[in-house]
This record gives sequence, C-alpha cells and structure tokens, in this order.
Amino acid sequence: QVSREWRPENTVVEIAPGVRFGGTEVPVIAGPCSVEGEPQILAVARAVRAAGASALRGGAFKPRSSPYSFQGMGLEGLKLLAKAREETGLAIVTEAMDEEGANLVAEYADCIQLGARNMQNFSLLKVLGRLRKPVLLKRGMSATIQELLLAAEYVLAAGNPHVILCERGVRGFDTATRNLFDLSAIPLVHKLSHLPIVADPSHGVGVREHVPPMARAAIAAGADGLIIEVHPTPDKAVSDGAQTLYTEQFGRLMGEVRTIAEAI
Ligand code: PEP
Ligand code: MN
Repeated sequence: QVSREWRPENTVVEIAPGVRFGGTEVPVIAGPCSVEGEPQILAVARAVRAAGASALRGGAFKPRSSPYSFQGMGLEGLKLLAKAREETGLAIVTEAMDEEGANLVAEYADCIQLGARNMQNFSLLKVLGRLRKPVLLKRGMSATIQELLLAAEYVLAAGNPHVILCERGVRGFDTATRNLFDLSAIPLVHKLSHLPIVADPSHGVGVREHVPPMARAAIAAGADGLIIEVHPTPDKAVSDGAQTLYTEQFGRLMGEVRTIAEAI
C-alpha cells in the first residue's frame, strides 16, 4: 500500500486544518527537543509561530539513551502543548513510546511522532494504525529505506493512511556529526512511495551551525516539510541543546526556506 505502483499520485497528509504535507506547501514543524515547562514551551511556540512555522514539536515522553537522563514531563507536558496550540494556533506533533502513551498523545496532539528507536516496534505500529491519527514515522537509526517503507506499511495495513515519513540520519562511522544525514532518502522515497517525507536535519547532523545548510538542501531535494529543534536558550535545554537553533537563527532559516521552496 505504500508503493507508487499501488497509488501513483502523491498522498497529502493534513494534520490540522490547512497544515498539509505532500501538497504544494512545505510546512515546518519547530520547537524544543523536550517540553520543559510552561514559560519555555509558550515562548518557543510564539517565536516559531512568528517566524512562520505551522506546527510545534516538543517531547513529553522522551526516549533517552540513559535511564538517568530527563525522561520528559509526561501528561503534564501534553497539557502544556495543548495550551500552546490554543494560544498560537500551531498544530502539535509529539512522540509516543508505547501504547498507553499513544492513546494519551492521540487525545492531545494533532500528529503522533514515532521515534527512530521505535521504527520497528511492530506492535506500536499496529496501535498507530488503529488510532487513525496522522503519524510522523522517523527512520530507524540503521534502517534501510525498504525497512522504513515496510514500517509505514504496518500503519497503513492496520487502517491508517495518514503517514508522513521522516529522514533523521542514520548511524555512520564518523564522529564529526551525530548521524549521517541521508539526503538521497528524499528523492528515493518519492520514487518508491506516494507518502510525503520530511527532513529532520537537527538529529541528522547534530551540530547547530550545520543544521540550516542541510535544511536548505533538504528543501532543494524535494522534502515535503521540515522538523527543526528550536529553543530560546539552547545551551540551557535539557536535551539536544547542541543541535538546537536559537530563535533568531530559525527566523533567518525560514526566510531562506521560503525562497528555495518558491524557486523549485
Ligand atoms: C526527537 O525528535 O527529539 C527524537 C528523539 O528523535 P529521533 O527519534 O529521530 O532520535
Ligand atoms: Mn531531540
């Protein structure tokens, strides 16, 4: 069901009224890695809204490599995201890590993010299929394009056609960047599948100063949208600060993205 042969025309996934991935627009999802508190999430939401973002990201359930790292605010974080939506009109994209979390996220968010570490969590993929909420499915840390598409197939096969794929880099051998951001995944996925694909250069590169050029490149390569980590004080962020843009940097990037999107 995910293949171009099955459906030749592009699938457009609308996560909230007017926020469409896979159409002529190139919506941008922006926000902190983690929801940290009300002043933080409202400040980021206002800033990214002003810069032209369509959706707010922010993890309430965080898949941290260490069990001793900040695990997220949970339900309280979801409530803060809903408050930010009320105030700014931004759509909400946030991660779920298990079935219970997915049911909760479905109540509060517009799009459920399935993280790289759970891309092949087949039981969770089936749950997301049954929930019928839009899904942002991130590529696994060492998943092939075929494995990514088969993960999406689980969601579609369980009854949910609203899947947006996400390239977020794969494990490489070079420690100079966090991951190896696979730009070629964008045209490859477009050739093989009708589903939209967005780019996450923040996790893809992992180094703040290199995020804007890779975001521009992803748009030039035909990405259907972007997901970017932004924080007013990234150096104080509880997670992923080193790859998180300052709000001013994000504002500049949005101008560049608009120019490139109009040119292609
Ligand atoms: C995130 O978006 O903050 C995240 C944990 O991403 P990934 O699953 O791609 O590592
Ligand atoms: Mn992150």
